[in-house]
Amino acid sequence: MKLYEYLGKELFERYGIPVPVGRVVENADQAAKAAAELNEVVIKSQVLTGKRGKAGGISFASSPEEAKKEAERIFSMELGGFTADKLLVEEKVQIEKEIYLALTVDGAAQRPVVLVSLDGGMDVEDVPEERMIRWPVDVTVGLQSFMVREICRKLGVEGSLQKEFLKLMPKVYKFFREMDAELAEINPLALTPNGLVAADAKVTIDDDALFRHPQLPRIKEKTALELKAEELDLAYVELEGDIAVMANGAGITMATLDMVQHYGGSPANFLDFGGGANVEKTSQALELLLGTNPKVLLINIFGGITRCDVVAEAFSRVRETKGIELPVSFRLVGTNETEGRAILEKAGIKSFTSMDEAVSHAVDLLNAS
Ligand code: GDP
Ligand code: MN
Repeated sequence: MKLYEYLGKELFERYGIPVPVGRVVENADQAAKAAAELNEVVIKSQVLTGKRGKAGGISFASSPEEAKKEAERIFSMELGGFTADKLLVEEKVQIEKEIYLALTVDGAAQRPVVLVSLDGGMDVEDVPEERMIRWPVDVTVGLQSFMVREICRKLGVEGSLQKEFLKLMPKVYKFFREMDAELAEINPLALTPNGLVAADAKVTIDDDALFRHPQLPRIKEKTALELKAEELDLAYVELEGDIAVMANGAGITMATLDMVQHYGGSPANFLDFGGGANVEKTSQALELLLGTNPKVLLINIFGGITRCDVVAEAFSRVRETKGIELPVSFRLVGTNETEGRAILEKAGIKSFTSMDEAVSHAVDLLNAS
């Protein structure tokens, strides 16, 4: 479960991790009032997506009027499919340096790992590997001071900043462990004239450990499309790639996503329309996918209780009524395969029998588009 920034910061505060003074507001007037109390402020959209800064969801204001105007703008904007119900208005801290600090789980090492870089800020993805220090932690030992010193040595950090890290990192580690977090990311960790301040908080709590945290609110944020999919009883998750994927079953859908990656493409979504869907439901699933404006459509059907002719029928129906403009790669095998293939052929669509061929064809189509 992802936490909103303001909730992450509330928890940070309890663990003695310094955060800027701030107020959570629900309308532009409240934002103006907060700005009157805090002078120079940062106004931050409280949505569960990163990269708000680049998308215009973070703004600065030096007067209540300006804060009101900016708050109105941020409330009305959509960020990664979400609009904010709340904004965080904070005193603007003076940042001398943006540092990246995170604790996450290294699944392969079966340990928490500390990630630190002195090149924090909005382009942290581009930081070269050698500038990002990774320090796995043995949970039976914890994060000890000598380890923090060693991390500092690797970073080339000494003096007062080292002292700050020695104070801060064990607190973040304690927070991470006690809250059963999967991720506690502070980017930027701001170096200010008064020391380190967590200017951002991105926290994910392990869903399986939520029962240990009854005091935490249960947060569920879905995009408009994900809500629509829920209504239609489809398992749908939005991803960031270009190839829309539709398959009949969770396992085959996962495998399809993996194979898309394997061939060098990137999936736009996960859509499992289930086994045994009728023409109506299959058409709805297809329409939903087309609404996301992908570049290529990949349909992967291994028919058991799902009948190939039903899927083909749904496909040609949607094609006739709504039009399907984008290139399509179809894999069709199993129950009523011959009938299904005949329906597709009538519509001028060639289908593959192997998943390999269909996926690599989809990636070729993407590269040609
Ligand atoms: P994100 O883009 O969603 O990760 O949002 P952040 O909270 O990290 O804010 C994006 C950027 O805004 C940061 O990297 C900072 O450069 C800037 N920023 C955020 N808060 C402050 C602040 O209090 N003072 C200053 N000077 N810059 C800030
Ligand atoms: Mn950030």
